[in-house]
Amino acid sequence: MKSVQELVNPKKVNLLDFDRKGLAAFFVGLGEKPFRATQLMKWIYQENVYDFDAMSNISKSLRAYLTENCVIATPEIAVEQIASDGTIKWAMQTHCGNRIESVFIPEEGRNTLCISSQIGCALACTFCSTAQQGFNRNLVTSEIIGQLFVAQNRVGKDNRITNVVMMGMGEPLLNFDNVVASVNLMMDDFAYGLSKRRVTISTSGVVPAMDRLTQVCDVSLAVSLHAVRDELRDEIVPINKKYPLNVLMEACRENAKIAPRRFITFEYVMLDGINDTMEDIKGLIKLLKTVPCKLNLIPFNPFPNSPYNCSSKETILKFKTLLNDAGIITTVRKTRGEDIDAACGQLVGQVADKSRRHLKLQNMA
Ligand code: SAH
Repeated sequence: MKSVQELVNPKKVNLLDFDRKGLAAFFVGLGEKPFRATQLMKWIYQENVYDFDAMSNISKSLRAYLTENCVIATPEIAVEQIASDGTIKWAMQTHCGNRIESVFIPEEGRNTLCISSQIGCALACTFCSTAQQGFNRNLVTSEIIGQLFVAQNRVGKDNRITNVVMMGMGEPLLNFDNVVASVNLMMDDFAYGLSKRRVTISTSGVVPAMDRLTQVCDVSLAVSLHAVRDELRDEIVPINKKYPLNVLMEACRENAKIAPRRFITFEYVMLDGINDTMEDIKGLIKLLKTVPCKLNLIPFNPFPNSPYNCSSKETILKFKTLLNDAGIITTVRKTRGEDIDAACGQLVGQVADKSRRHLKLQNMA
């Protein structure tokens, strides 16, 4: 495997930056046949061969061209932390000196990888520690798929990663093209071959990008709802000011029609005294009756100087019971990797230049 430093060489093409369609176009551009793409993908993702010279079904001249002009480069593990429950958090170093975080969550019958889509985040959700980090830049495809690549190699074949959730650092739908190329690779039989039911993009509600996603990619969608009144959602998920609840719910209804499981998952972080009253339960029932969905209640995970507390266990249980009774399938997310700050909203990585948040917000989709 080439070192991260080689990525800095802008003349070399990183083949992990392409999904199958992109790779086929790359080869056609070289005067090659499009099927070179699937040959290459098999070597890289299935055989774990990164030395172009060892790719025996590729012509000698093409191998020489690839060696000269291309790399297969990923972020590199800088720090590994293993929690008492088996959860593993990696800080991965990117070529630009920033770090992103990925979390491996082993469970009975499945292994989930939570990955990042941006360095930092441009949205300013008040309960999320990534937001406090500011925004640096979008990850490129090789850095997104690279997290799965590195993690799978690290945990080995006996711990096959079966599920991927884009719930790490960043807002995936504000990095649309690279995220779509990455999930295409995750679901491609010549790469990871994961089921579309097991690859989930989580969004705070970037409505135009949700609509686009509905058109181009049938991956599972999770929507960070967190409040049922615009006034409160404006405050805690500020993108709501741009795409308020009625607009968001319409986009959800459209997406649910083609979603892999024909429903949307809504996420709802439980904040003590903020969004956890009886009124909120009634509001949730009213709102969620309008779209085929499941609801996932997330106990709030605190971080240094966070302005909130998690709702009490009794309150969370009351939400779960009353919502289920009302016909809305509701689960409570198990908090994992707490002792290594690997839980939802605790991923901070290391963002060197935070000054671009303002810039990115202006360009928001
Ligand atoms: N930007 C995307 C994905 C990243 S966060 C999104 O907003 O959906 C993944 C989930 O963790 C989201 O539902 C997010 O709202 C939630 N989350 C963020 N901070 C949290 C915290 N401190 N405790 C619990 N959940 C949190």
